[in-house]
Amino acid sequence: MRRMEEQLRYVARFDVRTGLLNRTSLLKRMAGLLERDGATGPGLALLCLDIDGLRLINDSMGYGAGDQILTEMARRLTQSSGAGEEVARTEGDGFAVLLPGASRDRAWETGQNLLDALTPAFDVDGKEIVLAINGGLALSPGDGSTAEVLLANAESAVVAAKGGATPMTFYDSAMNEDAREHVEILSGLRGAARRHELRVFLQPLVTLADRRPVGAEALLRWQHPELGLLPPGRFMPLAEQSSLICELTEWVFDAVCGLIAEPGTGRTPLPLVSVNLSARDFDLPDLAARLLAIAGRHGVAPAAVKLEVTETAAFASLERTMEQVAALAGAGFQMAIDDFGTGYSNIAQLGRLPADWLKIDRSLLVAAERSETDRAVLAAVASFGLVLGKTLVVEGIETEAQAALATELGCQVGQGYLFAKPMPAETFMGWWQAYRETGVR
Ligand code: C2E
Ligand code: MG
Ligand code: MG
Repeated sequence: MRRMEEQLRYVARFDVRTGLLNRTSLLKRMAGLLERDGATGPGLALLCLDIDGLRLINDSMGYGAGDQILTEMARRLTQSSGAGEEVARTEGDGFAVLLPGASRDRAWETGQNLLDALTPAFDVDGKEIVLAINGGLALSPGDGSTAEVLLANAESAVVAAKGGATPMTFYDSAMNEDAREHVEILSGLRGAARRHELRVFLQPLVTLADRRPVGAEALLRWQHPELGLLPPGRFMPLAEQSSLICELTEWVFDAVCGLIAEPGTGRTPLPLVSVNLSARDFDLPDLAARLLAIAGRHGVAPAAVKLEVTETAAFASLERTMEQVAALAGAGFQMAIDDFGTGYSNIAQLGRLPADWLKIDRSLLVAAERSETDRAVLAAVASFGLVLGKTLVVEGIETEAQAALATELGCQVGQGYLFAKPMPAETFMGWWQAYRETGVR
């Protein structure tokens, strides 16, 4: 248990391939520095780096080649960065270097030096590969006063550098075409429920052993009048920055209760349906009472609904989450921990959460197929969940090989395109009728 806990702590904070800080840890580190130094402090510069064409290299030379490059990138960046500077891997082909207290000039100079260190060819299985690497710089407080904004802006600067004349560039607010779109999306979203533009999609969950449907997850979609059907990734992160998210949660919860109460044309009652909660929902002191009231209005028993709490949300402020989750479980709702393996869990505390499902994030599954180390991580996560007596659900299963791997590691339930994609609630009723006896074949 101890070793597992250490292993899990490690993967939650560091990128397994390079040993660098991962995105979550970087954001945490930045937030800590920004808070410590306040508005008048020396400021924070962030350099984001992007490898152009890593995917092409992976495709043509195999993942092993990409991995060698990533490891070597990490080594050069660590070696060339100075005291107090921190290197992180922010995504597949993205790195970042945190430069606390750097002025504009100093940040530029450091960025140039780092790019220079990455210029010499990389040796991959005896072949010399020269990479095109771009950099983007953002400095607090001018380019953002929170960790998330600063990172997002440094990342838009990289994108701009890719199409620009120099390999590195500073963030410039004019770059941020996106920003305006964000404001538009957010203001449209406010009236979306009233205008009947929100849709609940349902994605089945099946037992891995005989592929029988055991439930469904409610996933929100926005039928935007101009942009079409938007996935939550397009608007949820924006909604989460305001209390609008709490209204959306209540809307989805209400819609799901409506479906459970009146299962369309067929008489078959709906299976267990999960609804996603956001970190901000926990700010509402009367969350459990609100949800109970909605369920009550539909005559739905709380036990017919499962509430998913993401690991990151749960552990962002653990004490409060503990209380809230206890209140929700006490009210009779079933609970699940979502996106497990992407946050900072403390095993002992996780064991105390009254959630009977642990939903293992798709990223762990994908990584496990690629390397032995990642496979060992997934195995540790799974055995840890089993020790705690959780039902293990694996998210994002797309292939038979992934289903087999999940089964082998003791996971009981799967969700993913291999079984069924998320579908409109009306379609789901038919799907459920067709497969509930036979299982998906
Ligand atoms: P989640 O709760 O982890 O939901 C699973 C996501 O994985 C869904 O994305 C689903 O469509 C996707 N998925 C399922 N099977 C596969 C697969 O085989 N391959 C791949 N690549 N993806 C698969 P979706 O619908 O885009 O939702 C994304 C996230 O948005 C959700 O992640 C959840 O965190 C959030 N979300 C969705 N609806 C709501 C909601 O009503 N309230 C809140 N608070 N968050 C929501
Ligand atoms: Mg979920
Ligand atoms: Mg998930």
